[in-house]
Amino acid sequence: MSDPITCPICAGGPAEPSVQFRGASWPTFRCPKCTVEFVWPLPNEGDLKALYDWGIYASRQYLTLASTDRRRARMWDGILDEVAQHPAPPHRRVLEVGCGYGYFMEAALRREWAVEGIELDPQTARRAAKRLGVVVHEGDGRTALGPLGRYDLVTASHWLEHVPDPKAALSEVAHHVTPDGLVVARVPDSGSPVALSSGPRWTWFCPPVHLFYYSERSIGALASSAGLRVVSVRRHRGDAHLWPLECAVAIGKHLLPTPRRGERPQGWTEGVARSRLKAAVARVTEALDTIPESLVPPAGWNASELVVLFAPA
Ligand SMILES: [Zn+2]
Repeated sequence: MSDPITCPICAGGPAEPSVQFRGASWPTFRCPKCTVEFVWPLPNEGDLKALYDWGIYASRQYLTLASTDRRRARMWDGILDEVAQHPAPPHRRVLEVGCGYGYFMEAALRREWAVEGIELDPQTARRAAKRLGVVVHEGDGRTALGPLGRYDLVTASHWLEHVPDPKAALSEVAHHVTPDGLVVARVPDSGSPVALSSGPRWTWFCPPVHLFYYSERSIGALASSAGLRVVSVRRHRGDAHLWPLECAVAIGKHLLPTPRRGERPQGWTEGVARSRLKAAVARVTEALDTIPESLVPPAGWNASELVVLFAPA
């Protein structure tokens, strides 16, 4: 019999095989105490390096559609309005971990806050620094944070689900926040209606790229383990698609199952079907992005991401 698995977030356990993501090609477990779902065994550093061929990863992740860029700008303005309600110096010193091309930094600059970023991909880092005229530190979040000082606001979007040790990563962030500062994190919400109804075919269930799957409860446990407390947590659409498209993608994945590790698509027909599906999704995404969310009921179904404000505990 294999050894019991202890939860990497709350040290509870033993973890049990995930019911929500059962049948997935990667073994996924759930902590009975804090409810976080996670891939186990976690990939080692060498596997992760190979996985993130950053030239390819970054170009895939950060080059988005103009309609998505406009939606992101509106999203960040909303989040920063929320942040601005908390006391802090008028010219806040802010840092974004994993800044990509700088959507958040751009929104913070509009408020005349002093902005810096950290970005793993050197090409992306240079491009963001040049475009916005700000300092972007190159490197992985935890290592690059080390020598930096304290900030009034640290943000991390879609980072905590990628890192193999989120407790250590968020603890490092906590060390770089002023006593009355805030941390903003955005993560996929595994407790959202779309995630619960899609199971392992949920768009954001993508092991081993995403290693941890958080709900409102488990993100709170992660905060406690890192010396932070949750100030507010809410669901919003964020980077998710509108729910009809999320469900269409889940059905597409059911019809065209993802090849298991080391397998290639079954021949030419499946390869063509897969690339056509991707192209169709991109076209439909662009069209759907122009539709106001309020016109796609039921309310709440478009919310597939958590936005969490943390403060030092
Ligand atoms: Zn746990």
